[in-house]
Amino acid sequence: MADETAISRLRMPPCSHQPAPYGGPSREEVWTERRRYVNPGVFHLYREPIMLVEGRGQYLWDETGRRYLDFIAGIATVSCGHGHPRVLARIREQLETLQHATTIYLHPNYGELARRLAETLPDGLEVACFTNSGSEANELAVNLARAYTCATDVIAVRSGYHGGSAATMGLTGLSSWKFSIPQGVSIHHTVCPDPYRSPFEGSPDEIARKSAGDVQQIIACQTPGRVAAFLAEAIQGVGGATHGRGDYLRLAYRAVRDAGGVCIADEVQCGFARTGRHFWGFQNFGVEPDIVTLAKAIGNGMPLGAVIARREIAEVLKQKLHFNTFGGNPVAMAAGLGVLEAIEEDGLQENARRVGDRLKAGLLELMQRHEPIGDVRGLGLMLGVELVGDRESKEPAAAECAEVLEECRRHGLLLGKGGLHGNVLRIKPPLCITEADADFAVEVLDAALRRK
Ligand code: PMP
Repeated sequence: MADETAISRLRMPPCSHQPAPYGGPSREEVWTERRRYVNPGVFHLYREPIMLVEGRGQYLWDETGRRYLDFIAGIATVSCGHGHPRVLARIREQLETLQHATTIYLHPNYGELARRLAETLPDGLEVACFTNSGSEANELAVNLARAYTCATDVIAVRSGYHGGSAATMGLTGLSSWKFSIPQGVSIHHTVCPDPYRSPFEGSPDEIARKSAGDVQQIIACQTPGRVAAFLAEAIQGVGGATHGRGDYLRLAYRAVRDAGGVCIADEVQCGFARTGRHFWGFQNFGVEPDIVTLAKAIGNGMPLGAVIARREIAEVLKQKLHFNTFGGNPVAMAAGLGVLEAIEEDGLQENARRVGDRLKAGLLELMQRHEPIGDVRGLGLMLGVELVGDRESKEPAAAECAEVLEECRRHGLLLGKGGLHGNVLRIKPPLCITEADADFAVEVLDAALRRK
């Protein structure tokens, strides 16, 4: 096995899992094949892409047996940890009995997952439609909202990410993800309510009020006065852990409802206990949406998404036939049930709160010593560290961010990168990380910022 200390002097917390010896094609062969045959738009993180061949808990191994601490979890997806025994057992058991049949027949997993999800949500949010991805879920949610309200205008938030299909690309508020193609219709983007780069001045509370005022302005100036929906992440994932403070969501929801619209919470990244204090991201801000969209962590890596709506909204699906071949697939449902059980049994929400608080405190302490850290934000284990050229001008330091990412990799820590300007380190580990992992990550970031 490769000696981790040969590359970094920092010691990762110990791990008892021994990866199996890797006997597959070499990394070079894999990369060559990918470059030759795979969609050229598929990008990789790091100058020299990492090949991963095994995972357990919060750790990943490459083909040489080198271990990494995973702080991005397949983009906020493997929240229960890699190879979680409960999730695997559920999947295996279902695979061996019935892999697929579609929802034209009854199967117990389908209704059971829908009920178990409803039990975690506020009263009334109880009717589920399962999809295969977050993009599909958001597209369906907007379709439901439009059919229900008989209005078309949708308000989304700048620097939010909602998917890569034509309609959800339109909902996304980040130019790097928008191709030059027609993207949805009647979509308006309100200002990002996060105070750090807000166009408004004032205290976080004032910025929250002014940002919600922008939603009212959009309704008044760019729509017929009636809207179908407001779609927002409680904490933006790809946007770099950006979020409105205080009353932002409450005021924005009120403005939209006053204009006849419904409120959609995209919980694809901030749901499933990631924010620690609550199971759902929106609960941190005292609002109750009319529709929630789920994906990523719901399957811990299985392709699964969902839309959960109030009954009267979901009723519109009876107007026509609606079908999704894999939506409700028994194996995907089994994974979802395993995820809910694992979060509960392992106390992952409490762990996200406790370890997340410690990690954030460590990052804030780093901010006192490292000038390039302009902002540290987020909740639980959904954190962002924004790097800037200088704190006065807040000039985005995207090149520095890429360098820090490379340095962290050298020390065995895998992070994500995002934000409108590509200058935010994104931290979204599996929720099972320990305090020792959090301390190690802070130590690595400290060294990376000093290039040690
Ligand atoms: N919503 C959010 C908040 C996301 O982060 C993503 C994916 N990054 C999506 C929706 C789209 O999910 P998918 O890639 O599964 O289509």
